[in-house]
Amino acid sequence: MKIICVGRNYAAHAKELNNPIPSQPILFLKPDTAQLLDNSPLYYPNFTKELHYEVEVLLKICKNGKFIQPKFAPEYYREVSVGIDFTARDVQRRCKEKGHPWEIAKAWNHSAAIGQFIPKETAFDPSGQLQFSLKKNHKLVQEGNSKNMLTSFDALISYISQYFMLLRGDIIFTGTPKGVGPVDCGDQLEGFIGNQSLLKCAIK
Ligand code: MG
Repeated sequence: MKIICVGRNYAAHAKELNNPIPSQPILFLKPDTAQLLDNSPLYYPNFTKELHYEVEVLLKICKNGKFIQPKFAPEYYREVSVGIDFTARDVQRRCKEKGHPWEIAKAWNHSAAIGQFIPKETAFDPSGQLQFSLKKNHKLVQEGNSKNMLTSFDALISYISQYFMLLRGDIIFTGTPKGVGPVDCGDQLEGFIGNQSLLKCAIK
């Protein structure tokens, strides 16, 4: 499996890191070794002094496809969850300054915490929107709603599949809302869709 991540998909988040709002989705990949599953703890990597959380909605691909039209995109995911795109922000800053790729800041071992997947029908509210959030040490630190995405889930699946063939089991990280911030050893993170707790991660 592979993990496809979307950068700057919420205008307010692009702004908080002083980034321009992109005209097209920004994509990057994480390898399967980036997965952090089953509410396992994350061990603070020794190559960063600025480890950040980014809570995101995850889509799990259930059908192989490429060049998918947006109107058919809903057939390609049945389950959603929340995840954390752990980012070594100091390393990422250095990569960006030099125009280098981001992988050493974003795609390292266990940098993609993945929550428990639920059927998408149970995740959306009656208006068709999906509300998600992250708590750090029981305090709300990030809150997002799919209605504020610059590119919708269906349009993302379509766009991604123009470049990367989607295979059953692949996971899409659909971008983080504003409120990203640092974690320290001893912190407890908990991710939600609506009121459902789907992800726990302790930093060790
Ligand atoms: Mg992210």
